[in-house]
Amino acid sequence: MSHTSRLESSSAKLLNNARSSGVSKISDYFGCNVFGAETMKLLLPKEIYRKLQDSIQNGKKVDIDVANAVALAMKKWAVSKGATHYCHWFQPMTGVTAEKHDSFIDPVGNGKVLESLLGKQLVQQEPDASSFPSGGLRSTFEARGYTAWDPTSPAFLMDVPGGATLCIPTIFVSYRGESLDTKTPLLRSIDVLNRAALGILKYFDQTAIRVHSTLGAEQEYFLIDRGYYEDRSDLLLTGRTLFGAPSPKGQQLEDQYFGSIRERVFEFMTDAESELYKLGVPLKTRHNEVAPNQFECAPVFEETNVAVDHNQMVMDVLKRVAARHDLACLLYEKPFAGVNGSGKHCNWSLATDSGKNILSPGDTPHENLQFLTFLVSIIKAIKEHSALLRASIASSGNDHRLGANEAPPAIMSVFLGEQLTSVLEDIEKGVTSKGTEAEWMSFGIDHLPAVLRDNTDRNRTSPFAFTGNKFEFRAVGSAFNNAVPLTVLNSIVAFQLVETKKEIEAQLKLKKPLKAAVLEVIRKTYKESKGVCFEGNNYSPEWAKEAAKRGLPNITSTPYALEAWRSKKSVEIFGALKVLSESEVESRYHVLQDKYWKEIDIEARVMVEMAQTQFIPAAIEYQTQLANSLSKLGKLEDGKIAAPFQKELLKKTSSLLERALGETESLKKSLEKASTLSDAKELAYFYCDEVKPLFIPLRQTVDELEGLVPDYLWSVPKYREMLFII
Ligand code: ADP
Ligand code: MG
Repeated sequence: MSHTSRLESSSAKLLNNARSSGVSKISDYFGCNVFGAETMKLLLPKEIYRKLQDSIQNGKKVDIDVANAVALAMKKWAVSKGATHYCHWFQPMTGVTAEKHDSFIDPVGNGKVLESLLGKQLVQQEPDASSFPSGGLRSTFEARGYTAWDPTSPAFLMDVPGGATLCIPTIFVSYRGESLDTKTPLLRSIDVLNRAALGILKYFDQTAIRVHSTLGAEQEYFLIDRGYYEDRSDLLLTGRTLFGAPSPKGQQLEDQYFGSIRERVFEFMTDAESELYKLGVPLKTRHNEVAPNQFECAPVFEETNVAVDHNQMVMDVLKRVAARHDLACLLYEKPFAGVNGSGKHCNWSLATDSGKNILSPGDTPHENLQFLTFLVSIIKAIKEHSALLRASIASSGNDHRLGANEAPPAIMSVFLGEQLTSVLEDIEKGVTSKGTEAEWMSFGIDHLPAVLRDNTDRNRTSPFAFTGNKFEFRAVGSAFNNAVPLTVLNSIVAFQLVETKKEIEAQLKLKKPLKAAVLEVIRKTYKESKGVCFEGNNYSPEWAKEAAKRGLPNITSTPYALEAWRSKKSVEIFGALKVLSESEVESRYHVLQDKYWKEIDIEARVMVEMAQTQFIPAAIEYQTQLANSLSKLGKLEDGKIAAPFQKELLKKTSSLLERALGETESLKKSLEKASTLSDAKELAYFYCDEVKPLFIPLRQTVDELEGLVPDYLWSVPKYREMLFII
């Protein structure tokens, strides 16, 4: 590609050009970097296109003729748009995406090459996978891991200044077919949910052929000037500030939320958005969030698999484009103490192939019976597996956010809203277990539609809230790969739908009419699971007490929360559904414990380094200045200037300095102790219970010093700068 055309492809340029020539319509370029259905229809022979769509819709294997034809068309399309390389794009258990680029070139003799991509290269690759975490699924001597094409998520072009690459979404599995990634279990969970939901729909809606879960992920993030970011090794290496006194002004005036967007930020946003539109990500909203320099963007919802990939692209593009604007985009859950952290609300629902939202209350009692059947099954799923759901969003970053008065606590509960609650309460009370159809009708099931459609209640404090036609899972952290929580959510709901179906069948065997049978199951299911429903303020300490009484788990630290991955119950449901085998569950558990302690270990090391090389020397310098000043004063007028406050200042500085030195030593000692351990679980617990608590006093001491030591001696940017200058 020529130099000029490469420049053209930089999105900022493109957009500016488009603006100046008056053609900045998003619809003109939306999805132009996606090898989607439209493009395929245009470029593939009819029969091949039909076969591929059949494979995508019905989960059939793509045969090699089809793969060859698709690969050829994909390559032509990508090369015509300036791509020189292709890659299998996958999501290992690290939580971020991975890619290994191969160029299209194929030597054809005489020192010449041609661009080529074969079906077999599209379908499967064998990256050198020994460095990806496998949690014991693959020993190093058996390093082979395979990436395999996932045709249900479209290939796309990552077009960045410097070059374009064709990215092919793939799953990543071991030699024995065990999942080494987050996508394989997600796809399996989508499949089992489809089958389980169809099993229920068969009583109500005979027309649905397929059910899929939908996801709309609201992404929160911070932006700070890149200079500040690079000047703080804590932000650079851990994603969060490990030190930092609060700024006198934080978010107390609440003047940032939905405030006007500053120009520099706006330029960044439009640049990032135009990149994402080209990638077919349907971003819909953008706004300022509650904390200073905190923002949010949200797309229109899509099928979960594609929505998960799109959110990975959103995170990637936000970070890359920020750098282009000399900004740093912080996706970490709690980059700054004392102001709100960032989450990723996962709006989730179920839809049929014809686009009907199953969680949308219907217009007829019959439709509402269907809606309520799904609703109570979801409530029951959360009740039964709340610990697993909590485990699915556990990370060292999210630990700081959950329950910190800005995000839901670690207690997983369901919010339904007043009206829906009263409908379910009526059903629970209004029917006897022998209920005839007449009895069922007597408490007015027919009045449900009008009531349900009005459901506009909001409870911003609930981790899992019904918001009228979808659930909003608010406990997910901003840095998460949504595949993990969504796999769990889809799986527990699928499992419960199968149970619900069994219960309906049992009622029907008693010769009850369908309506009565279903209502009885709704009543019973709600009764058994309503303990997980909570309508009040989830942030209040009273709720923690009440939840404990109800037996709901409240696990605040990651290593403990992760235990639910491999509880007997979880292993059983994952196994029954064939979403994760026992060894796959075990491997995930180990990878996550490993990730946890390593993250805390890095934080501890950065703290020691910053304390020793930045804050302690600054305090010593100041102490020296004060001591010198006092000693000079002592020599003046025969020492008659008492300077009691200066003496106090020196005492205070010296004592803080001594404290900082002592606390740094304690942290170093605990790290030495940690280095004698080797088991991932043992390490995770040690770092959580022994190492991490030592961060608190050291930070407090250093933050106090920050308030005393002269600004010019403090070598790292302060909160007021990072949060207010942009
Ligand atoms: P809020 O009040 O939380 O801002 P919105 O209606 O703006 O609610 O929706 C927020 C997110 O929810 C968007 O990403 C949107 O696409 C998504 N959403 C809406 N309907 C659904 C649905 N049926 N399934 C999944 N996500 C949905
Ligand atoms: Mg929302």
